[in-house]
Formats: sequence, structure tokens, C-alpha cells
Amino acid sequence: MRELVVISGKGGTGKTSIVASFAALADKCVVADADVDAADLYLVLEPTIVHREKFSGGSRARIMSGHCTACGKCEEVCRFDAITYDGPGNGRISKTYRIDPIACEGCGVCAYFCAEKAIEFAPAENGELFVSETRCGPMVHARLGVAEENSGKLVSLVRTRAKAIAQERKLDLVLIDGSPGIGCPVISSITGADRALVVTEPTLSGLHDLERVSDLTRHFGIETQVCINKWDVNEDLASEIETQARQRGLRVAGKVRYDPAVTKAQVHAQAIVERRCEAADDVRDLWRNLRDTRD
Ligand code: SF4
Ligand code: SF4
Repeated sequence: MRELVVISGKGGTGKTSIVASFAALADKCVVADADVDAADLYLVLEPTIVHREKFSGGSRARIMSGHCTACGKCEEVCRFDAITYDGPGNGRISKTYRIDPIACEGCGVCAYFCAEKAIEFAPAENGELFVSETRCGPMVHARLGVAEENSGKLVSLVRTRAKAIAQERKLDLVLIDGSPGIGCPVISSITGADRALVVTEPTLSGLHDLERVSDLTRHFGIETQVCINKWDVNEDLASEIETQARQRGLRVAGKVRYDPAVTKAQVHAQAIVERRCEAADDVRDLWRNLRDTRD
């Protein structure tokens, strides 16, 4: 079983549309939507959820105002300025301390120092994980709560589940829609993958993003190929990206032209290759090139 991860330097490069097409073209695969901060693969693959579970990425502190004596120790030790003196009174004192759940980083220091044991430190519910069936096969995806962090941990969980399903059903490919950028979630998306495909666009930021993302995949020793999406929007920059890719030892596996049919496909919840259009031919070529270099 192999893992192919599709990533990009930033969101909006067409990465997810390409993953959806790969899912439609692959014979036997499990799809893992690891872009948990902006999961939108479900809009195209229209999954039917068969299993869901809560995700906890860490603990969070909460002051039980009834036990608080307002000594102020917790505010003093919190390095994240998450504690303020504006909590409710409790019959003995008119005001207690309060923890801002958004600012709390879950380090637990306040609970450790509170002599009154007035701080509850319990696992927080940060999101949900889903296992679904789609017309292209099984899919594992997730939803992170608003302003929740620890998406790297959730990404790892999505990948682990997808691999387990692939093993169980004897499917030979896990297709990962990776997180964009170069932060913690994308590192969780790519570590241990067999191959990465970087989707980029012919813009100056696309050129720069390719540099950053390919530095990251090189650091983790992942064989990397490149797809230039909407390459004909700026042919000069597209050829600059090709040159840069070659200089970095990256193979350009394919180029997908700009095609208004791609937007129509999205509107109708279709993968590009599920519609007759020129971009669909480009994506098929891209898939063939990637598949042919699979060892
Ligand atoms: S350390 Fe405990 S008792 Fe003191 S203010 Fe904080 S919560 Fe209240
Ligand atoms: S758990 Fe850490 S970050 Fe959260 S309020 Fe307590 S000391 Fe501050």
C-alpha cells in the first residue's frame, strides 16, 4: 500500500479538484482529506457518513468559580495571558478569575499551582472525525471546531484511519488531500508518504511557494513531482516554474490548462474528469504520468 499526498503552497490552487479527479481515476484507493482546517473534498465526493467520533487534541483549563478564592496565583503563572479577574462571584467574594478558552493553550500550569484545586483541567473537544463511503470508495475526513488548534494531530489521525481501512480492504493506495502551506498540519500530511505532488499556479507567489514546499518535502526525504495548474494563464511564469522545478530535481508530472468547465464541475459536485472537457484530458495525462512512475 502506498501513500500519495497532494499539497500546495497555499489554498486555492485547485489541489482539491485534482485530488477528487484522482479518486475518480484510481481503481482501488482510500481518500484521506487531511486539509482539516478547510476540508472541502466532501463537496465534490458527497460522502455518506458511516462512522463519526469526537476528536480531542489536548486539554483545556476552566476555573470552578465556587472554589476560587481570587488569590491571583493562576493569572500570575499563565504565560499566555488567558486568565483575567472578571469571573462571577461565589457568595464569599464578589469576583473570581476566569479563563478565556480561546487564549488558553492547555499547558496545565495554572491547575498545578492552584492551592484550592479550583481549576478543572480536562480533555477538550476540538473536532470530529468521519469515515464515509463515496462513489469513488471509502473516505476519511474531519472537521475542526472554530478557532481550534492541534490540526496536526487530527491530520495524523485521519491518515492512520485511512491506512487501516486500506489494509483491511486490501486497497493499494491512500490518496491524501494535504494541508496547504509549510506549517504543522502539512508536516503531518506528508511525513512518511511515498510521494508528494505539489500543485502550483503560474504566479509569482506560486513560484515562491513551490520553493518553500519543495524544501519541506526534500527535508523529509519525500519524492516530489509538480503539477502546474492553469498553466496557460501566464505561459512565461509557467515555463519559469518548470525551469525551477528541473533545477531542483523535481519532475513536472503534468500541466492543466485553464478551463471554465472546471468551475461548472465544482458547481455540479463533479470531479473534473467526470465532465467532458480539455482540463479533464490534462488531468488524465497527469494521473497517467504519476501512475507510470509509481514503483
Ligand atoms: S489560583 Fe485558584 S484560587 Fe487562586 S485565583 Fe486562580 S483559580 Fe482562584
Ligand atoms: S492551561 Fe496554561 S494557558 Fe491555559 S489558562 Fe492555564 S496556564 Fe494559561
